[in-house]
Amino acid sequence: ARKKIIAGNWKMNMTPSQAVELVNTLKPLVVNDEVDVVFCVPAIDLVPVMEATKGTNIQVGAENMYFENKGAYTGEIAPAMLTDIGVKYVIIGHSERREYFAETDETVNKKVLKAFEYGLTPIICCGETLTQREQGITLDWIRQQIKIAFQNVTAEQAASAVIAYEPIWAIGTGKVATTEQAQEVCGAIRACIAEVYDEATAAAIRIQYGGSVSAASAPELFAQPDIDGGLVGGASLKPDFGKIVNYNK
Ligand code: 13P
Repeated sequence: ARKKIIAGNWKMNMTPSQAVELVNTLKPLVVNDEVDVVFCVPAIDLVPVMEATKGTNIQVGAENMYFENKGAYTGEIAPAMLTDIGVKYVIIGHSERREYFAETDETVNKKVLKAFEYGLTPIICCGETLTQREQGITLDWIRQQIKIAFQNVTAEQAASAVIAYEPIWAIGTGKVATTEQAQEVCGAIRACIAEVYDEATAAAIRIQYGGSVSAASAPELFAQPDIDGGLVGGASLKPDFGKIVNYNK
């Protein structure tokens, strides 16, 4: 059985000192041996958060990284900078990065390949706009995003990846997808992985739902056969995140 993975995405919130304070508040609340708990935090918070989470069950992730090893890329974060301090996960291709920072399926693919090269686990984001949903093209769109993101990724690498399905219309809107909508797309993503690779890879890969996940919606969402946890924005900054992590208690 796949272990659930529940990750917070802090986005552009929390100064380094606020970050340490938040970790100390959440530390006792997010204990659950049955799930992987990941805090994805701003780059400047990574070092203090690594320090503050030592000896806890909390794993740490970055929210983005660049697809080159090093060099003249002012302002970017290299993969080795993450691995050097013990970061294990990196969010790739969040819809906000695609919308505001011109990331494309192609740059997402480059970042995914680079993350695997460095032993980082990518949390690969996909999702449709409200217009695409209304046009009835959601599943085709998601399948295309996934196929491009996984180009030249081996089956072994893919099996260890995390995919986050985040309908854009559900992000930060309080408008959570229905359980049926979320399961339908996460099931289609798993079928797509089976088609590109094989059944074993599809059975191993973990698929999260993201978009207005709350303590109230988490239990039903995470009980779906193809939903292996969540990528949580706003609620990951609050004590409520402890309830989401302990959705099964
Ligand atoms: P919210 O949980 O705030 O809707 O954000 C979801 C998200 O984008 C997580 O990556």
